[in-house]
Amino acid sequence: MYVWTPRAFQTGETGCGPETTTPKVPRAPPCPGARRPLTSSAERGGGGRRSLHVRTAAGRMAVIRCFAALRAAPGLWRWAAGTAAGTQGRRSSRGYTVSPAQSSPTFGFLLDIDGVLVRGHKVIPSALEAFRRLVNSQGQLRVPVVFVTNAGNILQDGKARELTALLGVKVDPDQVILSHSPLKLFSKYHRKRMLVSGQGPVVENARSLGFENVVTVDMLRMAFPVLDMVDLERRPKSTPLSRTDFPAIEGVLLLGEPVRWETNLQLIMDVLLSNGNPGTGLATAPYPHLPVLASNMDLLWMAEAKMPRMGHGTFLLCLEAIYRKVTGKELRYEGLMGKPSILTYQYAENLIRRQAEKRGWAAPIQKLYAVGDNPMSDVYGANLFHQHLQKAKREGPGDLQKQQPSTTQSCTSILVCTGVYSPQAAGSTQPAPGGEQTPFHGHRDFDFSPELMQASHVVRDVNEAVQLVLHKEGWAL
Ligand SMILES: [Mg+2]
Repeated sequence: MYVWTPRAFQTGETGCGPETTTPKVPRAPPCPGARRPLTSSAERGGGGRRSLHVRTAAGRMAVIRCFAALRAAPGLWRWAAGTAAGTQGRRSSRGYTVSPAQSSPTFGFLLDIDGVLVRGHKVIPSALEAFRRLVNSQGQLRVPVVFVTNAGNILQDGKARELTALLGVKVDPDQVILSHSPLKLFSKYHRKRMLVSGQGPVVENARSLGFENVVTVDMLRMAFPVLDMVDLERRPKSTPLSRTDFPAIEGVLLLGEPVRWETNLQLIMDVLLSNGNPGTGLATAPYPHLPVLASNMDLLWMAEAKMPRMGHGTFLLCLEAIYRKVTGKELRYEGLMGKPSILTYQYAENLIRRQAEKRGWAAPIQKLYAVGDNPMSDVYGANLFHQHLQKAKREGPGDLQKQQPSTTQSCTSILVCTGVYSPQAAGSTQPAPGGEQTPFHGHRDFDFSPELMQASHVVRDVNEAVQLVLHKEGWAL
């Protein structure tokens, strides 16, 4: 992994398009407090283990089920295939004139949001500098950019508006990938009656993803007041009549961390243990249980506070532990998405391609650069996707690749020091020097693979990340 600083490039490079040769990236001083030089893994061609790192049988099944869901939604891949196949030589649909070199970027950015572009509601100043480099004189992006966040308690449109206001660059909703965005592909469950857990606009979010019949935890609590007994203030003062007119729940949708964790944990368990009929209960818990679809596995995330906050991954950890303790069996996920899931990166790759098509950029996108602050989600995910791309290249296209022709050759991970990762922090999720074991903050269904958490590059902030990539690609800084 390179530790890089733009000061190495203050030599007056000019030109707007790719050069015939890519300049060698020199080593440079580390970002403050960096503990050791790290080696490039993604750039070595997939570094480390060659297999996909999905740990448990349940996890592997979840991945297979994810792919099955994709196969069940061929239309969503068709636009990707069309994008890859039919855009040679097209002019920009917006009619502006660009130089041939600028018209066809062969790379795109996957930018994380929290800890990279913003901290809480404040923009990180380097993000503004980065976007000044990424837009042309008309204020349009010079290369495809998507925003890939594990946040989920917000609407896609709202996130796009928020980013537009913070960055001063027009961000379209279809440039934003929330942790649950790939749930659009799970059409098999869209007509089922799903219990949805999270906070904020959970019903609107579920509906925007295609789910037509959703029940919130609050709706369930109101229907069965005796279920929610942790808070003494919310316990019913008298015994309500039992209800028999509440249709059975057919699945569980976990979109993000809720406000009242104890209520959601209790009622989700009730639904799973009763096969969707929490008013009746069952003597024996059914297994396999009802399908559970979950997004956002982040154990921790970074806001304004000096220390990381507990994320939805912590909530899932609680649910998995309770389910296992009560039933003796593992909670199974029918789908598990958000970074570091490969599915999320495939989704992002398709949006990048679609964006290039909209802009009339003819050259196929070959390289992705994923910039993030969380080694476990951003770096691990990018490296895992890179491995996936290498495997597909070695072994030929599988069923999924045949449906989704991909021109992407690599996905390079770039870690910034403005969020969760701090080279100086105790308990940093970057592997410690000398093989010292650090806590694994990843999800249960993913292997602890230290090499997958090693970023190809560590830079101070997103502005340095953008400069690094533009330089590597031979584009003007
Ligand atoms: Mg982040």
